[in-house]
Amino acid sequence: MRVYSGKCLVEGAAIAPIFVYRPPQWEDCQTVVADTQQECERYRSASEKAAKALQERYTKALQSNSEEQAAIFEAQQMMLEDEDFSEQIQTLITEDHRSAVSAVMETAESFAQIFLQMDSDIMKSKAADMRDIASLVIRFLQDRQLIFDSMPAQCIVLAERLLPGELAEMDSRKVLGIVLKESSAHSHLAVLAAGRKLPFLLCPDMDLQDYWTGQVAGMDSAQTKLWIDISPETAESLRRNYQFTEPFASTLPQKQDTQMATAEGFKLCLNIGHPKELTSEVIAACDGVGVFRSEFQFIGKSQEPDEESLFEDYRYAAEALKGKTLVIRTIDIGADKQAAFLHLPPEENPALGCRGIRLCFEKKDLFVKQLRAILRASAYGKIALLLPMICQVDELLRSKAILEEVKKSLRGEDIPFDENIALGVMIETPAAVLIADELAREADFFSVGSNDLTQYCLAVDRDNRQMESYYNAQHPAVMKLLKMTAQAATDAGIGLCICGELARVSSATQILVDMGYRQFSVSPAFIPLMKETLALCKR
Ligand code: PEP
Ligand code: MG
Repeated sequence: MRVYSGKCLVEGAAIAPIFVYRPPQWEDCQTVVADTQQECERYRSASEKAAKALQERYTKALQSNSEEQAAIFEAQQMMLEDEDFSEQIQTLITEDHRSAVSAVMETAESFAQIFLQMDSDIMKSKAADMRDIASLVIRFLQDRQLIFDSMPAQCIVLAERLLPGELAEMDSRKVLGIVLKESSAHSHLAVLAAGRKLPFLLCPDMDLQDYWTGQVAGMDSAQTKLWIDISPETAESLRRNYQFTEPFASTLPQKQDTQMATAEGFKLCLNIGHPKELTSEVIAACDGVGVFRSEFQFIGKSQEPDEESLFEDYRYAAEALKGKTLVIRTIDIGADKQAAFLHLPPEENPALGCRGIRLCFEKKDLFVKQLRAILRASAYGKIALLLPMICQVDELLRSKAILEEVKKSLRGEDIPFDENIALGVMIETPAAVLIADELAREADFFSVGSNDLTQYCLAVDRDNRQMESYYNAQHPAVMKLLKMTAQAATDAGIGLCICGELARVSSATQILVDMGYRQFSVSPAFIPLMKETLALCKR
């Protein structure tokens, strides 16, 4: 649990999963425009749409008897329609051949700076209105949606900044509280939040992390505190003080939520580390197991498990799933996951050392033993195989050859197994992404491990807490790799799943869906949240 102190902007308390909101990044728009008339027309049309949207916000505020809020949108409408504002934008387009986006950004920023230099706090707060207007016009110019479309059913919104228009567009039933790094008691946002009776806390010291999305937080603006990953004791005392019932009593699946069907066109699977996680409730809630991290039978054991015990575990899980697919990832030992009985020599750089498939080749007997157990269990349910840490096509071909040897020997022993067992590849290194087209020719499906992919792409140790601020699974470079992987899988017509932690970050879901991802695999605790998120996603 982490605790941050801040300043109360609107009193109140909440306990709910976190939604880390990042505003859309406007694309580089410094391109020189040739047809300036057409660009001015584009601006005027976007500006009209923005005016209409502001009018709708104004009417909505009036309908909910909030004249104070309505006045904010009325003032924004006037600022948008201000002749100086509109002329400055069109001059930049016609004389400097600037794109409409760049002209709007520059003009709004110059107006915002003028407001910021004024003495009165009320005038200063108009700078945020100016930026809000610009962001609305640019969204219409770029035909972009705000990414909180994929916000979970109920949440506390954490962000660096939030514009009044962004809050206005958030579904008011979903937001239970706001915590920002930057804002002020005089901001229009504070007025809007107060109008909605939304607890609002200012925490300048909060080191906002994208992976917080989905973790449960508590906030109490009277105590001026924010608790990330709130402990049960603190949650209990908050509940006692306020006597409220929070939407998620814990992150464990709620019966009602788990019984909801996965949205059409999507598959929501489980990441498990132990077959005992497969309770009947969890099985009913999912579309299968996306990754069974099979290391659990090996890590921390003083003795190597025998084939029989491996087979029993796999058979138990396959049978429990009653026809839903069980993807078993072959052992990914090495780096942070060590098996004492293997007596592996220490390595200088274990994350770059003998792990995953490399270790399987080093310890071929162990690999063969596991493949035998998996193939034998495949006669009892629907199983697929997944290979970790693949960096070369040759590693896949070598694994396939070993799998063929194992199949041959089972046939020789008259042991039944699924002859057509699917074989997938973990895409978790940049190398695998760059040769994804070649791998796709030899594999039945890809499963994207965004945890390692981020680590290896950004050169950041995923387990080093000091490096936390550098570890960003939504870094543009990682996002490019994710897009390339989806493209390669789609081109080859093979299966595609994402099973790293990014799969359960609801602010990223729509982006992943736009890239082509339809199958998400998450820990059981995130099934309800992801069902809600996928239900809101547009394909
Ligand atoms: C990953 O790397 O994203 C992944 C799913 O595998 P693990 O976290 O087990 O390394
Ligand atoms: Mg991994």
